[in-house]
Amino acid sequence: MRTVRTVAALREALRQHRAAGRGIGLVPTMGALHEGHLSLIRHARAHDDVVVVSLFVNPAQFNERSDLERYPRTERRDAELAGAAGADLLFAPSAEEVYPPGFATAVEVLGLTERLEGAARGSEHFRGVTTVVTKLLCMVDPDVAYFGQKDAQQVVVIRRLVEDLNLPVRVEALPTVREPDGLAMSSRNALLSPAERRRALALPAALEAARARAADGERTAEVLVQTSVAHMRELGVEPEYVALMDPDTLEPIEELAGAALLALAARIGDVRLIDNVLLAPEGASKPRRPLPGKALA
Ligand code: AMP
Repeated sequence: MRTVRTVAALREALRQHRAAGRGIGLVPTMGALHEGHLSLIRHARAHDDVVVVSLFVNPAQFNERSDLERYPRTERRDAELAGAAGADLLFAPSAEEVYPPGFATAVEVLGLTERLEGAARGSEHFRGVTTVVTKLLCMVDPDVAYFGQKDAQQVVVIRRLVEDLNLPVRVEALPTVREPDGLAMSSRNALLSPAERRRALALPAALEAARARAADGERTAEVLVQTSVAHMRELGVEPEYVALMDPDTLEPIEELAGAALLALAARIGDVRLIDNVLLAPEGASKPRRPLPGKALA
């Protein structure tokens, strides 16, 4: 696997593949790679001729300076892991390469970005995400781009962006990979103390509590949401939000009738974590595999 740091070197490396008609898959990441990222890379390896992994800790999407400063940076290890998982090319640009002097353009998806993470983190968060993802798609020009369902709102926003801007790429979302005890893998988990790491289990536990209520036939969104909220509080964690919504439009729902996304966020100490699970009515009549497990969300 080769590492390239400039757009020119990236395009040069991809030129022959493109000319030969090879399919290119892109996995955008901010590094500190874990099994969640590696599952995306392995999936790309299995389905695309050429696998590009981008590694860029995008300053524009961090609404808290301290979060950006302490975000784990482990490029050498990331390169080894990405290569072993099947990446052909690691694109690891500097901030100046992505945002050169005079950079003045932003890509913004309206509406969808104003709820949940957008409401909690401010509009600059998603503007940073959508701008950098648009740039990465323009730089790499992949046939397929892979994202994790762990960031469910991000997937919805990027699908909207790709459709609205007629970008010639297919967006694929892959399931959340969890630790054996159910905690969704996240680069930020490394920042948790052992006690915080234990408390963080309140997130998957809260999702599981609501999922179990839905499996027992509960259909009222408010009851399902409050089940999660109460469960988190019992475990000593105050949720930032818990919401049940349409998985495609992110509109809040009142009754569980079709598939619905239950998403939540909470701070464990200084570390902000998010998680979600997809609830489906058939999951209520035929119990789905409970959390912890790798198949949900
Ligand atoms: P990040 O480096 O956190 O920006 O994540 C890069 C990509 O990996 C995003 O598409 C994430 O949704 C995805 N991802 C992060 N954590 C997980 C996980 N636990 N399971 C699956 N995908 C993940």
